[in-house]
Amino acid sequence: MPLFLVAKSRRTNGHFEVHCADCPAAPPPPHSHYLGSFPSAARAICDARVLYPRCEGCEQCCAADALPDEEPDRPRRHALSGA
Ligand SMILES: [Zn+2]
Repeated sequence: MPLFLVAKSRRTNGHFEVHCADCPAAPPPPHSHYLGSFPSAARAICDARVLYPRCEGCEQCCAADALPDEEPDRPRRHALSGA
């Protein structure tokens, strides 16, 4: 399983960023907190939120994974045209 870490410094949007350990955008250890191995970025992000409630997956290394909970109130497009 891939190893994940979370950056200790906030991004401009106030969120902490979760990375795979081999992500080129991941900060080196003094500036990151290792989370451990997870089967997916989404699971790592869920665990990271225990320590860093406002965190999100890196767009470079976690984009392929579905990100949990970070799509607030997106309108669901289904069956609205049937009227
Ligand atoms: Zn990354």
